[in-house]
Amino acid sequence: MAGDRGKLDEFDLIASVFAPLTDGDERALGLLDDAAVLPQAAGRDTVITTDTMVEGIHFLDAEPPDVIARRLLRVNLSDLASMGAEPAAYVLNLTLPARTNKEWLSLFAEGLRVDQSAFGVRLLGGDTTHTKRSLTVTATLLGEVPTHGAITRGGARAGDDIYVSGTIGDASLGLKMLISGADNQDALVKRFQLPEPRVSLGAKLRGLATAMADVSDGLAADLVHICRASKVSAIVYTDSIPLSVDVQTSLAAGNTDMGEILSGGDDYELVFTASPDTAGRIAAASQSAEVPITHIGRISGGASEVIVLGPDGREIKLETTGYRHF
Ligand code: ADP
Ligand code: MG
Repeated sequence: MAGDRGKLDEFDLIASVFAPLTDGDERALGLLDDAAVLPQAAGRDTVITTDTMVEGIHFLDAEPPDVIARRLLRVNLSDLASMGAEPAAYVLNLTLPARTNKEWLSLFAEGLRVDQSAFGVRLLGGDTTHTKRSLTVTATLLGEVPTHGAITRGGARAGDDIYVSGTIGDASLGLKMLISGADNQDALVKRFQLPEPRVSLGAKLRGLATAMADVSDGLAADLVHICRASKVSAIVYTDSIPLSVDVQTSLAAGNTDMGEILSGGDDYELVFTASPDTAGRIAAASQSAEVPITHIGRISGGASEVIVLGPDGREIKLETTGYRHF
């Protein structure tokens, strides 16, 4: 849109900052055309996901631009992982306040460069606009699965085991620490800023996981999503929730509690269900992806609720099931 151009020359930006990120991929047409063109691969489904991050809501304005860029890719990659998809490409929408300069954008592009190489995706296009308000960044990622191979939230059945990858609660503690001024070298802060999308594990769970979601809203909330979509209930045992040493230390010091851990968001681990018959193959998938998984509960019939049982077998009522940012 012609009237939409701010101080930065958009064509210069596209040529110097964004075009190198296509890696010469023919589908991007050099970012010189009106759109990208993707040939359809036979026997494959395309999986599409998009996530937006707004300054002051999903990131702090003091966070480094490369970290913001990498988190943007990673939260989207996590959505692909939770569908069992292999990442392929992405498009990028930027809405920039006047103060955003080329230095900021170059650092942002450096972050994109690092993680697009790490995860095997290329930039195929996007849009750049300007705003008098908050900096807003959106990425739309494309992934692939074999036809009908995507893992949805709707396939959990009574009797299925519930598993979660990695450890839970680190990112929400890290965010709390970041807000109270912690160093961004802190391990928990890093877990918030640069989550590890479980792309390899997700793909290996195709044909095994009956339902899957990534832990973005909080373990309890994301399990509720699976329960609603599958029309089942979940029983989760708090003493089986995998906790990092840092979170265990915080727990012992009274700086957090199980309710906060189960409802904290942003871990980007995978929570999934599977028939007990496939337990051996699930363990093998975890081993070959080199991502630990933990059995945390069981699916039962009933009214789409998540029941959390404490070490004494008594139910723990959570105040909220999901965490909502700043
Ligand atoms: P239009 O006039 O249709 O809005 P643009 O001038 O915005 O087209 O875009 C020109 C080309 O630059 C397109 O190929 C588009 O995909 C690409 N592009 C624009 N902004 C970005 C961005 N932020 N990231 C990647 N590609 C971009
Ligand atoms: Mg445009």
